[in-house]
Amino acid sequence: MIEFIKWKKPSVIMDPRENFSRKTVDAELRYDPLTGESSRLSHFGMIRPQKEDLSAQDTPEASQRCPFCPANIDAMTPKFAPEILPEGYIQKGETRVIANIAPYDQYNAVVVMSHKHLLTLDLITRNILKDAFEAGLEFAQFVSEKEQLDYQLFGWNYMPPSGGGLVHPHQQVFLTEDPGNLYRRAYLGSQEFFRRNKHSYWEELCTVEEKKGERFIGRKGASHWLVSFAPLGVLGEYLAILPGVHTVRELADKPLHDFIEGLLCLFRYFEEKNISSFNLALFFAPLRQNERHFSLHARIIPRTVLNLQLKPPDTNVLQVAYQEPFSVYYPEELCEEVKPFFEK
Ligand SMILES: [Zn+2]
Repeated sequence: MIEFIKWKKPSVIMDPRENFSRKTVDAELRYDPLTGESSRLSHFGMIRPQKEDLSAQDTPEASQRCPFCPANIDAMTPKFAPEILPEGYIQKGETRVIANIAPYDQYNAVVVMSHKHLLTLDLITRNILKDAFEAGLEFAQFVSEKEQLDYQLFGWNYMPPSGGGLVHPHQQVFLTEDPGNLYRRAYLGSQEFFRRNKHSYWEELCTVEEKKGERFIGRKGASHWLVSFAPLGVLGEYLAILPGVHTVRELADKPLHDFIEGLLCLFRYFEEKNISSFNLALFFAPLRQNERHFSLHARIIPRTVLNLQLKPPDTNVLQVAYQEPFSVYYPEELCEEVKPFFEK
């Protein structure tokens, strides 16, 4: 059974805003039901999404310097070695999959998503997302036929606050034997849950959250959308789960379409709330065995700078050195706000 463990952490202050009267402020500690990792709800109301005007980045001069703009991409970006991809890259519509010039692992592709240099959220279409994810999948499948690599990481740093080093929209695909810390914890947690309960954590999570309704945003076809119980980002965290899809080979047209439909609903909500940056990561089951306990899921974490003057990042000593995430919103309140965007 999935347990949602949380408790209040009351703190007493003498509040200068109310004539130094005694006041109790509650923070809340929560444990992720899968990984057991803690996360806090605290610092309420102190961080708001900041929207930067990026039109200054959308000039002919900026495009001239950008390696991903159409005039430069052939000359300025690396090609894959011919034994990996005979043509050196994959082209699908406006999307081009190229080699990362500074790879993080043996196979690290960059998926340049459009010809356009600045793609604000309102300009991201169904087709752009479809071509980008499909091109990444094609790369992953192509390499996995030649080489036994169990894990495929699909990541997206959208816009600078999320760590995106270039404004020109691009995703990353990693094929590896070493999927990283959170993947490992999620995978082991999900394996252990299956061993104890004889059914999938992810399927139960969808069922239980839908029944509770507090954090269940809605469904788009085969994709189930939730707000995370123990969020990883200061502005919360969204989970998309495709219970029937596991490995990279199973993400067919229909489930991908359903995922993209949900993502577009979330983007409409982001626009309304001035959220203009996020991290997105896909977690596929490993290819090695027929592992049905680990459903494909995506974590989407809005990012912001704290203010537009100094542009401090939204991570501090708690997240970076103590590895302790916190969110300034209650997931249950976020869920109420997002739901209408999925009903349209
Ligand atoms: Zn560009």
